[in-house]
Amino acid sequence: MCMGQRIGLFGGSFDPPHTGHLLAAVAVQSALRLDRVILVVANDPWQKSTQRHITDSHHRLAMVRLLVEEFEGIEVSDLEISRGGPSYTIETVNELRDRGDEVILVVGADAAAGLDTWERSDELRELVEVAVLDRPGYPWPELTGWRLHRVKAESLNISSSGVRHLVGDGTSTHDSVPAAIRSYIDRHGLEWS
Ligand code: ATP
Ligand code: MG
Repeated sequence: MCMGQRIGLFGGSFDPPHTGHLLAAVAVQSALRLDRVILVVANDPWQKSTQRHITDSHHRLAMVRLLVEEFEGIEVSDLEISRGGPSYTIETVNELRDRGDEVILVVGADAAAGLDTWERSDELRELVEVAVLDRPGYPWPELTGWRLHRVKAESLNISSSGVRHLVGDGTSTHDSVPAAIRSYIDRHGLEWS
C-alpha cells in the first residue's frame, strides 16, 4: 500500500514571490521533516483583492516556478488557479487530504494572526497542524485551539509589498528576489502602482 506523505501547504498571493518565501519553505521542510512543501498560488486572494490590483495568476505562477525550480522537495501547485474563484484554503486542504496525504499548513506570523478569519476556520482548525514562521516586526500570534509549531527560521525582512515599491521606484531588488524573477517582472512589464 502506498503511504501518504507529510506535505507542507504554503499558500499565498506571491505577488511577486521573493527570497523570504523560499527560505521559509526550506526551513519548514527541514524543521518538520516534511516530504514536500507545496507553494500554492492563490487564484483570487479574496482578503486582498478588494484592496488592490492583483497580478494575473499565470504571471504569479510562472514566477513561483522560477523561485523554486532548483530546490528538491519544494514545489508549486496551480490547484487553486485551476479551481478558479476565491481561494479558500480549506478546499485545498480537503483536496490534498483526499489523496491520502497529511497536510501541515505553513504561514508566517502575520498571516497566522488572521487564521480565525479564514473561510470555515473551525473545520480547518480540526484538520491541520500549523507551522508558524517568525517574521520580523510581527509578534507571536494569539490563537486558541490551533495546533501550532513554531519554526525558527532565519527571518528575512522581505515582503512582496516591499518588492513592489522597489520595482515601482526603479530600484534594485537584488537582496529580495532572484535575478530571474526581476527579469521576468521587467520583461513582462509588471507594475503595481
Ligand atoms: P504582501 O506584502 O503583498 O502581503 P507577502 O510578502 O506577505 O506579500 P504573501 O504572498 O502575502 O507575501 O505571503 C504568503 C505567505 O508567506 C504568508 O503566510 C506570509 O506570512 C508568508 N511570508 C511572506 N514573507 C515572509 C518572510 N519574509 N518570512 C516568513 N514568512 C513569510
Ligand atoms: Mg502578506
